[in-house]
Amino acid sequence: MENLKNFKRTKYCGEPRLGDAGTEISVCGWVQRRRDLGQLVFIDLRDRAGILQLAFGDETPRDILEKARSVRNEYVLAARGVLRERSSKNPELPTGEVELEVTELRILSEAETPPFEILDKTNVNEELRLRYRYLDLRRPSLQRNLTMRHEISRVTREYFYENGFLEIETPMLIKSTPEGARDYIVPSRLHRGGFYALPQSPQIYKQLLMLSGFDRYVQLARCFRDEDLRADRQPEFTQIDAEMSFVEAEDVMAMVEGYIVKLFDAILGVKLETPLPRLTYADAMARYGSDKPDIRFGLELCDISGAARDSGFAVFDDAVKNGGSVRAINIKGGAEALTRREIDKLTEHAKGIGARGLAYIRWMEEAPSVSFGKLVSPEALAAIIEKTGCERGDAVLIAAGPDGVTLPVLGALRLLAAKKLGIIPDGYGFLWITEFPFFEKNADTGEWEAMHHPFTMPSDGGLDFIESDPGRVTAKAYDLVVNGTELCSGSIRISDPALQERMFRALGLSPEDIEAKFGFLTEAYKYGAPPHGGVGIGLDRIAMIMCATDSLRDVVAFPKVQNASELMSGAPGEADPKQLAELGIKV
Ligand code: ASP
Repeated sequence: MENLKNFKRTKYCGEPRLGDAGTEISVCGWVQRRRDLGQLVFIDLRDRAGILQLAFGDETPRDILEKARSVRNEYVLAARGVLRERSSKNPELPTGEVELEVTELRILSEAETPPFEILDKTNVNEELRLRYRYLDLRRPSLQRNLTMRHEISRVTREYFYENGFLEIETPMLIKSTPEGARDYIVPSRLHRGGFYALPQSPQIYKQLLMLSGFDRYVQLARCFRDEDLRADRQPEFTQIDAEMSFVEAEDVMAMVEGYIVKLFDAILGVKLETPLPRLTYADAMARYGSDKPDIRFGLELCDISGAARDSGFAVFDDAVKNGGSVRAINIKGGAEALTRREIDKLTEHAKGIGARGLAYIRWMEEAPSVSFGKLVSPEALAAIIEKTGCERGDAVLIAAGPDGVTLPVLGALRLLAAKKLGIIPDGYGFLWITEFPFFEKNADTGEWEAMHHPFTMPSDGGLDFIESDPGRVTAKAYDLVVNGTELCSGSIRISDPALQERMFRALGLSPEDIEAKFGFLTEAYKYGAPPHGGVGIGLDRIAMIMCATDSLRDVVAFPKVQNASELMSGAPGEADPKQLAELGIKV
């Protein structure tokens, strides 16, 4: 094996162009492949910038030619030579007009045959790729994604620095901060039986920084939440965490909007139109059945409770009578694609997320086929058809029951149907959601919980109902959504300790709980607190959207899989019994 003594890399493999022909350069990289044509040997050498063809031929000294012949895929090489124009060009490669006529070749490392070939287009299963993630990361698409993620971080810092934000680190070993997820906890050796929590977000600390006078704070903060994983959720993630003093919701939203506009322009050259559209939570739910709707296509929900009440069909009538609703979604032109079988599939999906069933109108032939046709009066059916605007060629899906079920069910079906019909356009559908409910009833316990976190400021109009009618209280909270993904979430915070205490009480905390969990925080607010608010912006999700992938694993270097393990290292592993004994823990 050779070394790099007296060898200095002067270019990345992906860099040379025709204009560089005639110059001497030195490159380092991995062997993508070698072709041996007898007198001629070609090696494609790969680094993070791309691939360059190394050429060995008649003029190449024998020993170098032999060495070139001996290399195999993924060997690490250093090569020096003169760039020359290629006789047969390769239009697939940005460097495809030149090749390096090698005058010096060093083998820096040999390589065993990797468990899969390093190719961008791969059908190797993801589990195997994640076990050998360091090899998987050599693939150009992942190199590109992580490079873009770096660029995103760079522009992010630039923007917030330009706007006077100070980057301040907050601790990782903390007391639990409630964000509605389970904590990862860390046992303390020095305080037996004591546990730190890893931050679900730096929420409390950034609020305290406002009290300390650092009126604009930002941090690319690692956050940890022990939740069930999905494609757009990892147990650890990075949040662009920001907080501002002396501001109202509009100021924070404008700051975020400025950031998004700059970012999309700088990274993708996409000019976003501002102001970004807004919807209240209530309107988003009513129109799209989701608080993070994809607004790039229509297919809006329609409340047909009026038309369906007293229809004679007990499912509809009861839903309305019991304070719920009957809602529909007209999949325009969807009758053909949504065959009976497809509708059955959607029905199964709807049942899986809480619906009792799904009614439908499918209008292909002269007369519509109506799943509940024999059960309703002709007048009611006519009214439903009119209300939904159903015409020949359409398919209408209908759900009845409490709003808490009908809305999200139809929201989910809306997405599935749009995907099935292939009507979701490219591009970016940004949307602010405002006026969130402050409280949310836990479906299992029936108790009120904070929909965002308990430090969120209730809207002015809601203050009178905190105790008497919590469901009516909205919050000065705002989420930014793009293409159906929540990108950012934030709020104005409660800066009045008396109001904070009131909200804690309304959330069912006893004075003792409040003291034990948040005593230090409520006390802090007694010493002069500026009005303040902020946001957490999901960096991983931004990267996912900008890299046009639908999995966070494509933008995280070493991601976890569904069951929260990391396949490469095998984390989590067992702890040494000695370690456990020191911590006073028995498993
Ligand atoms: N801490 C919040 C979150 O992680 C964001 C914020 O309110 O600033 O969702």
